[in-house]
Order: sequence, then structure tokens, then C-alpha cells
Amino acid sequence: MSAAAPTPEDGTEGISGLDRRIAGCRACPRLVDWREEVARTKRASFADWTYWGRPVPGFGPADARLLIVGLAPAAHGGNRTGRMFTGDRSGDVLYRALHDVGLASQPTSLRAGDGLRLYGVRVTAPVHCAPPANRPTPEERDTCRPWLVQELRLLRPTLRAAVILGAFGWQAALPAFAEAGWTVPRPRPAFAHGARSRLEGDDGSGLELFGCFHVSQRNTFTGKLTPAMLREVLRAAASAAGLPHHEQ
Ligand code: SF4
Repeated sequence: MSAAAPTPEDGTEGISGLDRRIAGCRACPRLVDWREEVARTKRASFADWTYWGRPVPGFGPADARLLIVGLAPAAHGGNRTGRMFTGDRSGDVLYRALHDVGLASQPTSLRAGDGLRLYGVRVTAPVHCAPPANRPTPEERDTCRPWLVQELRLLRPTLRAAVILGAFGWQAALPAFAEAGWTVPRPRPAFAHGARSRLEGDDGSGLELFGCFHVSQRNTFTGKLTPAMLREVLRAAASAAGLPHHEQ
């Protein structure tokens, strides 16, 4: 048992405290080995980088109204830069779209400290460590879920919408939303691009959930997910969250 396995929050830490605890987690032996091996061996084109090689926390303000949930960090993206969707092709697509609709300060996300700011949006993942072949096991997904539940609880006062990128994220996120206090409809809504479902909160606050194909190269290179499709989902989610954004 790792000393840094996910544990319930004590109610006093904010998002930054949670992010620090996530970054120290070593609960999944296979993922700890992989993320650290990738950080040691590196990709030749990033040989001069000191890889992050640790769990990658969520990125964005603590009072976000819109949450974007991916799958897991990329070995040479988030696992290198230490920031979600930063330094890889998936992130290029996501942050360009966020900038296009007025939710990000710049269209690129190259490294932590590059000045990128998100406006009312936070980006996270149900698995915080880079997995081999981008495929976490169900056990790893379940082991990491308490981190997402804690993040959702902290965001809850302001969170009004979420975009889930891909079926894996959808399957992983719905139980986390339920644990964090929202009511997930029965039967559970199925993932689809363009799927939309409302989760009721036990304090009267609702949350609009949006399904979107993942911004993986497999989807964006083949045209399964186009920039226009992604912008359309982001605009709908921003509207549901009450965030100002560009309509065109
Ligand atoms: S995937 Fe999650 S639970 Fe597993 S080691 Fe990484 S941060 Fe910890």
C-alpha cells in the first residue's frame, strides 16, 4: 500500500492542495513504473527535457463552471510537461478550439508556464498517470476515481457543465459524479458524440453533461472529430455553464 494512495480530503484543502497530493500519488504500480521509465528514456526529440514523470493534476481555475474530462495524460505530452493535454497533438486540437470559442487565452499549450489561462474552464482526467498504449486497466481507473471525486466536490459550488471526451472518460466519470453528489439518470445515459444529459444535484444545482469524441489523433486525423464539431460541443457546454464565449 502506497503512503500516497488516494485518501478522502479533510475538508480544508482547496484545489491546489488536491493537485499537490495527486502529484505525489504512487497507488498504481504498473503506471508508476511506466511514467518513470518514459521519463528516463524520453523521446529523442525531447532529449533535452526533464520529464515530469509523475501524476498530472487538473489544470484550470478552482471556480470553474465547465469541466473537460479526458482519458489520461500522454506519455510524451502531459507526462513530459506536467500539465494536462500540454505538449501533444491532442492538446493542440483541444486548446485551439477552446481559444477559438473564447475560453482560453491562447491557441497553443506548449509547456507549464507558457502563459496559457483558461476562462471558467478546468481540464482533468479520470486517470492521472500516463498508461502504456493509452490504455489504463479497469482497476487503475477505479483506483484513480477518488481523485476525480474529490476534484468534483471541490468544484461543485460553481460547476454547471462538463464535456466528457470519449467513451472511457464517460464510463469513468459517471460514477464519480454520482459519488460527488449528483444524481445520474437510470438507466445510465450512453456515450455518443453530441449526447447530452442533465444530472441533478442534491442541493438543487444541476449539471449538464456533454459527450464528445476524444481529441485523439486517431479521431482528429481521420476526420471523425473535426474542429467544427469540437467547437460546437464547447459552445453548447459554455452556454449551459453560463460562460461568455464566441458564437462564431
Ligand atoms: S493513476 Fe491515479 S491512482 Fe494511479 S498512481 Fe496515478 S494518480 Fe495515483
